[in-house]
Amino acid sequence: MIKKLRWALIPLVLVLSSLVAPANAATVTYAKYTWSDTVYRVTDGQAQAIDYNTWVAAGRPTPTTNSVIPGSYLYKWGTHQNIGLIDPTGAYHWLSSAEWNALGTPGYANRSNEGFVKLSWDSNIARMTDLNAGQGYPINLATWRAENSPEPRVANRFTGDQFYKYEGSDDIWYAGPTVNRVITFAEWQAAGSPAPRVIAAQWANPITGRVQGNYGQDRGSYTHYGEDIAAPRGTAVRATGSGTVVRTKTGVAEGSTASNGVLSGRTGNAIMVHHDDGTASYYGHLQNVNVSIGQRVTANQQIATSGNTGNSTGPHLHFEIHLRQDGNSPTNPRTFLLNRGVTLGS
Ligand SMILES: [Zn+2]
Repeated sequence: MIKKLRWALIPLVLVLSSLVAPANAATVTYAKYTWSDTVYRVTDGQAQAIDYNTWVAAGRPTPTTNSVIPGSYLYKWGTHQNIGLIDPTGAYHWLSSAEWNALGTPGYANRSNEGFVKLSWDSNIARMTDLNAGQGYPINLATWRAENSPEPRVANRFTGDQFYKYEGSDDIWYAGPTVNRVITFAEWQAAGSPAPRVIAAQWANPITGRVQGNYGQDRGSYTHYGEDIAAPRGTAVRATGSGTVVRTKTGVAEGSTASNGVLSGRTGNAIMVHHDDGTASYYGHLQNVNVSIGQRVTANQQIATSGNTGNSTGPHLHFEIHLRQDGNSPTNPRTFLLNRGVTLGS
């Protein structure tokens, strides 16, 4: 009898509660991560960090800590054993396995072919964009710290790196994602004593003009991976080293903002040369292109005239050097040439 009565009351309770609460009230919960002091108010799947006073005003609710807060990003590099978590405020944290378990073993972006690698014999850290192919670029300490200082994988070599000597010299050069420089005997041994390739030595200044010094400049949506050398239209552009022309672009007008299709960007008429030492050079905003794809060129041979084609604010040569021939390993061209006895622009 009593049981029957209780069941009969339930519909009444439901009706009463629906009268008290607004029909579609948002569910508000509070959450935080155990390693952080930030408390979030979560409403309709949206998390907002709240300050102490707001938390007190809300009645000091105990935040939950057992699930991923909306707006967080979880990821795992191929070179790092921990899963990284970026919280909705942008703060980084490496999850211990206990912390990951406590969050309910959430899924994460598996960036297994990317990560951070350092040579055992060189201090630079490479941010690898393709571990299998050995593609990446050097990062500075600030960038590495901004990634929450992931412990880099230590390796003796990178896939596809190069050891070479110039004819008539005993120096061994190394070209990889992080450096292109002469290495010591001990460094060469640490790399496994690979036989260096012998190549003809010759490098040349690609153009005479005023060097802007803007390699590596942050331009918001992209980084300026070349050096700009101001020079009047029609100035001779010369191959910086011997090699083969692999790509050209012609027919681009001044002021055109169309992507040129040689390298990403809008550098107008352009040439890419693959050099015999495994590096590559790129020349953009050209007025005239005097070579064709497949053509062999020697250092200091004129290959073009400079101009102002493409997305450019004044006549100049956009000049890039890549440590490998993937179009994705830029290095400072001024330093690169200076290491080979050539002063860019002079
Ligand atoms: Zn440029």
